[in-house]
Amino acid sequence: MAEDRQTQPAANAAPAAGRMKVDLAGQVAIVTGASQGIGRAIAETLAANGATVALVARSAGKLADVAAAIRAAGGAAEAFPCDVSQATDVQAVVEAIHGKLGRVDILVNNAGVTRDTLLPRMSDEEWDDVITTNLRGPFLFMRAASRPMMQQRYGRIVNVASVSGLIGNPGQANYSASKAGLVGLTRTVAKELAGRKITVNAVAPGFVASDMTAALGPVLLDEVKKRVPAKRLGEAWEVAEAVLFLVAPSAGYVTAQVLTIDGGLIG
Ligand code: NAP
Repeated sequence: MAEDRQTQPAANAAPAAGRMKVDLAGQVAIVTGASQGIGRAIAETLAANGATVALVARSAGKLADVAAAIRAAGGAAEAFPCDVSQATDVQAVVEAIHGKLGRVDILVNNAGVTRDTLLPRMSDEEWDDVITTNLRGPFLFMRAASRPMMQQRYGRIVNVASVSGLIGNPGQANYSASKAGLVGLTRTVAKELAGRKITVNAVAPGFVASDMTAALGPVLLDEVKKRVPAKRLGEAWEVAEAVLFLVAPSAGYVTAQVLTIDGGLIG
């Protein structure tokens, strides 16, 4: 288990005013991959709108830091360290969250990894790692969290896909397949759960500033910015705003959708 107590910067500079407000008071939200990047921004946004947030990732130390930052800002959050690819752990963690916090209203499957290389060089491990984290993880969390949601006859699930899963991207056969699979999983589960007042949607970010994209290096990122009609990377809080819309109680008729957040990249 990766353990890293480095303090992460807060979600990238979001405007102090002009952000959406949604009343999530009394609701419990699970956010996976909440220890940094987009997941942290989503967790902070849901907490700022009144939800109690269950923070999931492997790094207990980073999750404790995020929980402390949310509490310092007046929100409610608890850390539940877990590897999303482990079926027994996921079931146990969802039961622990439900037992401790009393409900499960929102699930955001955001945890994800890349292991980029061209197809001829891709190892079995690189394929399995990415598919297991990015696709099996959301399946396990949706299966476990849908039970309390069905009992409540209410739920909001958002899966974090990628434009790579919609149009493909050289060097990302494993990642693109995982995210395309996640889109299919989203649309199917949405149809299965719609009658129980549970919505299931996906967001598909383009290039968003985070550790994941920083790994591409400045030269490639400059090329990316030239290709994006908005001429910049997205910010984590901009993905969080889209997630906030999809988990709003008023978004009950929006389901089985994929919302692209890419500055116009795939148009
Ligand atoms: P990031 O900074 O690398 O963060 C990834 C998060 O996932 C971390 O919190 C990590 O925490 C967690 N994670 C990874 N493997 C895990 C596992 N097995 N179990 C539990 N947690 C795990 O990435 P990001 O850029 O914020 O990306 C977040 C999501 O957005 C991913 O699904 C990614 O595919 C998607 N996305 C990102 C971009 C982009 O441009 N950044 C674009 C499209 C889609 P631990 O290491 O502590 O477990």
